[in-house]
Amino acid sequence: MTPSPTSIRLIEPYGGTLVDRIVPMSEIPELERGTTGVMTLTPGAEIHFRNIATGCYSPLTGFMSGAEYRSVIRTGKLPGGQDWKVPVLLHADALTARDVREGMLVALTDQAGSRIGAIDVRDIFEIDQDEYCRLVMGTNETEHPGVRNIVRQGTVCIGGEVSLFADAATPETLQSSPRDSRAALDATGKDSFTAFSTRNIPHRGHEFQHRIALDRTDILGIHVITGATVTGSFRSGAVLDIYDMLISEFYPRGRVFLNNLRLPPIYAGPNEAFLQATVLQNLGYTHFVVGRDHAGVGSYYGRYASQEIFEIPSTLGIEILPLPEPHYCPHCDKIATEEMCDRPEFLEKLNGRDVRRLLVEGRHEELAEILRPEIRDALIERQHESPLFIE
Ligand SMILES: [Zn+2]
Repeated sequence: MTPSPTSIRLIEPYGGTLVDRIVPMSEIPELERGTTGVMTLTPGAEIHFRNIATGCYSPLTGFMSGAEYRSVIRTGKLPGGQDWKVPVLLHADALTARDVREGMLVALTDQAGSRIGAIDVRDIFEIDQDEYCRLVMGTNETEHPGVRNIVRQGTVCIGGEVSLFADAATPETLQSSPRDSRAALDATGKDSFTAFSTRNIPHRGHEFQHRIALDRTDILGIHVITGATVTGSFRSGAVLDIYDMLISEFYPRGRVFLNNLRLPPIYAGPNEAFLQATVLQNLGYTHFVVGRDHAGVGSYYGRYASQEIFEIPSTLGIEILPLPEPHYCPHCDKIATEEMCDRPEFLEKLNGRDVRRLLVEGRHEELAEILRPEIRDALIERQHESPLFIE
């Protein structure tokens, strides 16, 4: 392992040290001899697992134990004192829950059955789903997709340090590990880096926010969050491609980075925004754009609840760039916030759902208010070639 890139310019990883749990398989002889248990990770658990091992979730070195879990949901802190809002749990299926014992080393496989790592089981514990949902999601209504996720996964969890095999550590397309991201930011020679996270095609309101970020700090990192497959949402490949085009054709050269940020579906609104901030600090970012209803779902969280959570002093080093919601003003024919217009009652909302609806219904003229023409045309063209949305 090369030493992790450190620079006095870069923000510290959360907790002070960038976690690295990537090991050659030969360092775990029990696994080579096949004398361990085996557990298959769900796609969401695999994302958590890789994020722990590559340092995205520093200072976590494994899936949470019962003590860590209870500390996080009841006090909002890890036992070490760092603020942490979303538990990182490995839910065991019934068969695994029956066979696994504390002290065992369990091989972890992906959905295809390939061994990608291991967990050193330190704790097996049960969670109270109702308490989890109330404290993490702020609701236990079963219509909430995050609540449904938790209920589906059962109550038994396995905690312990993880190792990711070096052979299985290949990143996804456009995905930067914390180590690589920090090295790339360091190489710019600059010292202020703003992260913007999104799951959607960039509309004019997003561009408006990107330009504010570029005005305030040196570098903008656009992090397309992938890993959740929600029916009806844009395919992540399309979002990444459109962003790639936007950045290379319209944004200042060398000042905008694109990253494929893998996160499982959580839907925890403000608490999820806090987790994103944690990951982005570990990736080396100093600032984070938080807009309206960031990481929200339906109308469960207040319009600016995800900004308010950061008003409480915390152990995070990354600073929040809270931005008001951009709208389209038909009166001025401009993107504007409520502060900028004389006729705020006429402001029109901009959102990904409208883009989807207008595209599907072929109402391309109306898309012009929401998207720049180059993006609209690229989407229309792409729509003819391959499915744009998850079915
Ligand atoms: Zn106006």
